[in-house]
Amino acid sequence: MTNSKTIPATLIPGDGIGPEIMDSVVEILDAVGAPFAWERHIAGMAGVDAVNDPLPKDTIESIRKTGLALKGPLTTPVGGGFKSINVTMRQEFELYANLRPTKTIIPGGRYENINLVIVRENLEGYYAAMENTIPANGDPKGIALSGGYVSRKECERIVRFAFEYAVKNDRKKVTLVHKANIIKQMCGMFLEAGRKVAAEYKGKIECDERIVDACSMQLVTNPWQFDVIVTTNLFGDILSDQAAGLVGGLGMAPGANIGEKTAIFEAVHGSAPDIAGKGLANPLALLLAAVMMLRHVNRDDLADRIDTAITKLITGGEVRTRDLGGTASTQDLTAALKQAIS
Ligand code: NAD
Repeated sequence: MTNSKTIPATLIPGDGIGPEIMDSVVEILDAVGAPFAWERHIAGMAGVDAVNDPLPKDTIESIRKTGLALKGPLTTPVGGGFKSINVTMRQEFELYANLRPTKTIIPGGRYENINLVIVRENLEGYYAAMENTIPANGDPKGIALSGGYVSRKECERIVRFAFEYAVKNDRKKVTLVHKANIIKQMCGMFLEAGRKVAAEYKGKIECDERIVDACSMQLVTNPWQFDVIVTTNLFGDILSDQAAGLVGGLGMAPGANIGEKTAIFEAVHGSAPDIAGKGLANPLALLLAAVMMLRHVNRDDLADRIDTAITKLITGGEVRTRDLGGTASTQDLTAALKQAIS
């Protein structure tokens, strides 16, 4: 096993707290000898400031070439006709699966031993942004319309992704989450495709179903019953933030956007402009995203070392950032983590 930097990967520090937490994460990755040969690029406000483009061509080309990126949070410029950068990236690289693991790391909270994964369809549904207004009640824009769509191909692909994830990660059950009782066409197609794919895994991975509102309630009353949840875009967006709330909030929530050729790893939180530059940011969500990235390139050995160090440090409780009730700075936490790595 070599520790040289042999895997090209794009690194986007991001905006706001992005550069601070990315520095911390790169320090930890270096401490375990992670194999990434970084190509540093900009996006978000950094891109707008430098070349008036939130997603510069060089950045896109680098990601296309490496097929692998670690991305800090990006500030979506308000107004000026800029489209959401995250949505653009998902479409550009056909990142059809959004993977959000939710695991208890901080002991003593309301929910111990949570360990579930939400797989969200990332390209279709109501994120298709088929929106319009039409006149009504004497108001030229009296009615607002919003539509969405799903394709059978994408429904099958995302459910298959969830089952394959379950097989590879020793998970036992996949829950199909839908609203097919009301949204009969769109959610109906998702459910039908889900059942078809589930049949292929019969005997290997258990499958059950929930209507999204019931699932949301059960995530609060008995989250331990869930293992892998797979659902359409908007439901996945909401449920995964809800799940993050069970385990200490967005400062602890990593995510991955995965396509056939490209995977982009990131923290779920945003650029936190209120604390940017103050050394207060918690780097753990981005670090956990980097851990997912190590597993993606089959370096579970290094991922396990970082995971163990995080658990040791957080369980010890002395070194925590402000969002976790502590007083440590980003740098204090980074230094303590480096020490905790064996
Ligand atoms: P946010 O996640 O940036 O901040 C919400 C709250 O959580 C703030 O009080 C912030 O200080 C705190 N927080 C977030 N991350 C933290 C961390 N690592 N450590 C400690 N505290 C943390 O959400 P927002 O304020 O709604 O969004 C700010 C900007 O980020 C917006 O421009 C938004 O578009 C963008 N955003 C980007 C992404 C992304 O790039 N993936 C995701 C969400 C929001």
